[in-house]
Amino acid sequence: MSPTPPPTDCLVIGGGPAGLTAAIYLRRFHREVQLCDAGDGRALRIPLTKNFPGFPDGISGAHLLDRLRLQLSQVGGAVQQGTVEQLQRLDDGLFVAHVDGRKVRARTVILATGIVDVIPALPGAAELLQAGRLRFCPICDGFEFTGRHIGIIGSGAHGVREALFIRRFSHRVSYVCHGAKDASLLHPLDAAGVAVMDGAAGSLHAQTDETVSLVTREGVEHRFDVLYAALGSHTRSRLALAVGAQADPAGGLHVDAHARTSVQGLYAAGDVVCALDQLVVGMAHAATAATHIHNTLG
Ligand SMILES: Cc1cc2nc3c(=O)[nH]c(=O)nc-3n(C[C@H](O)[C@H](O)[C@H](O)COP(=O)(O)OP(=O)(O)OC[C@H]3O[C@@H](n4cnc5c(N)ncnc54)[C@H](O)[C@@H]3O)c2cc1C
Repeated sequence: MSPTPPPTDCLVIGGGPAGLTAAIYLRRFHREVQLCDAGDGRALRIPLTKNFPGFPDGISGAHLLDRLRLQLSQVGGAVQQGTVEQLQRLDDGLFVAHVDGRKVRARTVILATGIVDVIPALPGAAELLQAGRLRFCPICDGFEFTGRHIGIIGSGAHGVREALFIRRFSHRVSYVCHGAKDASLLHPLDAAGVAVMDGAAGSLHAQTDETVSLVTREGVEHRFDVLYAALGSHTRSRLALAVGAQADPAGGLHVDAHARTSVQGLYAAGDVVCALDQLVVGMAHAATAATHIHNTLG
């Protein structure tokens, strides 16, 4: 029987911008790192980011990930494809992760599993998404649509908040409800000059002239230069919650100034943290977590 290998210094769960940054920092500190990635992150959906500092001509999410993986490989790290299905913390403080039928033992863990945007449950939504014509992040790309006709398909208080934020980019903003209309929530939109469309969204269509059309359930077509979905997101924090980490009601993990969760040895970085969901923020969590791990592991 072969002896059990020693635990790795850190298991990074998730190979998006946050997880890859953490692994690069740890390898540059000569730490043993394992990084497992399921390969379906949000960064892959970025057609071209123009708000990522240092890239004035923009960079796609896929290209950014390629460059981060290259940088990791140059310091002796690698991405292991796989989904971590379960995480346990043993009495001696070690973590055991179950990854596609095998076990990984680790002294510390950085969870960088991100969030998943809610996609409108409408015909045509998947095609728009694939073509990068359905947007989710006005902080990221609202500037690019300044003064244009912007459509928002939203629901609940989150949808209204997002519409009010987007209104600052353009005076031509229209809001369409996804599902039932809650008129009591919509008054601030009227007051801010956001046009609330009659009816509920029925289907979405990419037009050849780069516009997007939304057809209501009643058959009325509205055309927009760009369409944002404002339906919220699901946080992929299940593994951390299972070992007792504290989170906000939506599952966003609470971390301290060193990116530590409330569970000793478990850190979190990126969108899975209750913070602003942006590339630079996630990378900052990652750098902070990796440096604290290096300083405390001995
Ligand atoms: C359309 C769009 C455009 C955007 N544009 C910008 C922009 O211009 N500027 C900007 O700053 N931000 C932008 N964002 C936000 C940005 O994509 C996120 O802030 C960033 O990707 C977060 O990085 P992350 O590493 O935390 O998560 P992700 O990029 O989501 O990566 C998480 C990784 O974890 C993996 N994973 C999840 N669960 C497991 C598991 N159990 N086991 C193993 N692996 C797992 C996933 O497969 C994924 O690879 C945009 C987002 C979208 C959707």
